[in-house]
Amino acid sequence: MAVSDHVNLDQFMAGLKRRNPGETEFHQAVYEVASNVFDYIEDKEIYHAQQILRRIAEPDRIIIFRVCWEDDNGNVRVNRGYRVQNNNSIGPYKGGIRFHPSVNLSILKFLAFEQTFKNSLTGLPMGGGKGGADFNPRGKSDNEVMRFCQSFMTELHRHVGEDVDVPAGDIGVGAREIGYMFGQYKRLENRFVGVLTGKGMEFGGSPIRTEATGYGTVYFMHDMLAVKKDAIDGKTCLVSGSGNVATYAVEKINQLGGKVVTLSDSSGYIYDKDGIDDDKLAFIVDLKTVRRGRIEEAAKEFNCEFHADKRPWEVPCDLAFPCATQNEISTEEAKLLIKNGCMGVSEGANMPTEQDGIHAFTNAKILFAPSKAANAGGVAVSGLEMSQNSARITWKEQELQDLLRNIMQGIHDNCQEYGAEAGSDYVDYVKGANIAGFTKVADAMIAYGVV
Ligand code: NDP
Repeated sequence: MAVSDHVNLDQFMAGLKRRNPGETEFHQAVYEVASNVFDYIEDKEIYHAQQILRRIAEPDRIIIFRVCWEDDNGNVRVNRGYRVQNNNSIGPYKGGIRFHPSVNLSILKFLAFEQTFKNSLTGLPMGGGKGGADFNPRGKSDNEVMRFCQSFMTELHRHVGEDVDVPAGDIGVGAREIGYMFGQYKRLENRFVGVLTGKGMEFGGSPIRTEATGYGTVYFMHDMLAVKKDAIDGKTCLVSGSGNVATYAVEKINQLGGKVVTLSDSSGYIYDKDGIDDDKLAFIVDLKTVRRGRIEEAAKEFNCEFHADKRPWEVPCDLAFPCATQNEISTEEAKLLIKNGCMGVSEGANMPTEQDGIHAFTNAKILFAPSKAANAGGVAVSGLEMSQNSARITWKEQELQDLLRNIMQGIHDNCQEYGAEAGSDYVDYVKGANIAGFTKVADAMIAYGVV
């Protein structure tokens, strides 16, 4: 095929939308990658001839299954479970499991697609996948969550394995859920293997896996600022969410001398102008993970503001760390952040900024770290958990801290290399992450031929 015969970006997206109707999050994620990759491969015939992007945007397989369980009152409940195995060109499928009522195929396909590039960026041998269910753990007893997790794994166990597909946690899936799912896998398979990551330390977990995503997101900001000879020290920061990623992002920002003034959950956000120090953070971690309460309680405890049904982006800041969920920064909110003086955004959540919001950030040339690079620390330490499980050893915490730090620095530098703008000192980290993540997967696919 001559170069001039290639489909262009619009034609590519039209085909994708036709084949995947109504899957808006998936369209959004593919567009973000394709808009950079199309420019990059324009003169690279092999990627066109091999239809590489088209193939990466078509999951290897999708498993959808019924999950039946009994609630504490003896009622039979039915949910839908999924596993999207997107691409295993550079290693076993790897990606989290999400339990949230909003879970649907579009969201899981977008997450599995993104994960493919993210995992490639870590430099570790991991393919991309994602799974979950439209189950809402909120308000459920421990026994109900256990029965759900067991039922979910009763089907999933056939499709995963330490060299096949290694799920982890995500929204609504933390240490408790991983424990229940691992227990059921072990019972069904009668094998103790590293089939899940994010496990408890007593049964094959890795030091710093819990902290890794939040820490990594802050390291990425640190590295972007360092290029500008600046630092987090003294900066006012907004963080959204109050789950795993958000709370460890706050811990690291505090260690580096920043001041975090917001946290949120799906009911609203708290604004504490004095800063959320380590003691306040400990209260919030207990509130959200042990008592499973709402963030408003923290506002009462700290005597600070609570804004119901709102997101933190209206508060003036130097730096923003969206760590809750997808599309939580609208285009208008992105513009408001810029107007209020925000100089950097590092995405802890997956795809938290709407497409035009990303354009607003990059057009304003503020520092912007896209999720597939900025939150890759979690899956990186998951990859290291897999290595430890295979070798049946546990590395020391300091070794893992150093490895995480080095991996995040490596991702930053890789993005900088591919994202540097000619004739200016601006780095387009979105472009850098997309191209750096793409090339490794693409070149592996070419080596395999048409499979
Ligand atoms: P958690 O379940 O621990 O926390 C999620 C937080 O986000 C909670 O505070 C939750 O509030 C809030 N939230 C969820 N949905 C919404 C919504 N629709 N609107 C507003 N707030 C919402 O999840 P994680 O911290 O693990 O994950 C957060 C993000 O980070 C996700 O995008 C996830 O994909 C991404 N991520 C996570 C990784 C990890 O290692 N855990 C790795 C890489 C990315 P509430 O309590 O009210 O539900």
